[in-house]
Amino acid sequence: MAEKRKFKKRYCKYCEAKIDFIDYKDVESYKHSLSERYKIMPRRLTGNCKKHQDMVTDAIKKARQIALIPYVVDRKSVVPTAFEAL
Ligand SMILES: [Zn+2]
Repeated sequence: MAEKRKFKKRYCKYCEAKIDFIDYKDVESYKHSLSERYKIMPRRLTGNCKKHQDMVTDAIKKARQIALIPYVVDRKSVVPTAFEAL
């Protein structure tokens, strides 16, 4: 395989931690599901289950509205890992 796979294990982090609700104000709780450009990671990469992915998506969209996380990141401000700059 030419491209190195970043995520190997496929399990839902939220199911494992038994989280029933993801608070959009708690950035720590969903930062695993954000890419370095603050995009929502697809389920096939994070291994989240459908239920939790929907919650994460909801939380991230709310967080963007209240400017907790940016909508777009330009080329200059891309960081190697999300939330390093925050
Ligand atoms: Zn889950």
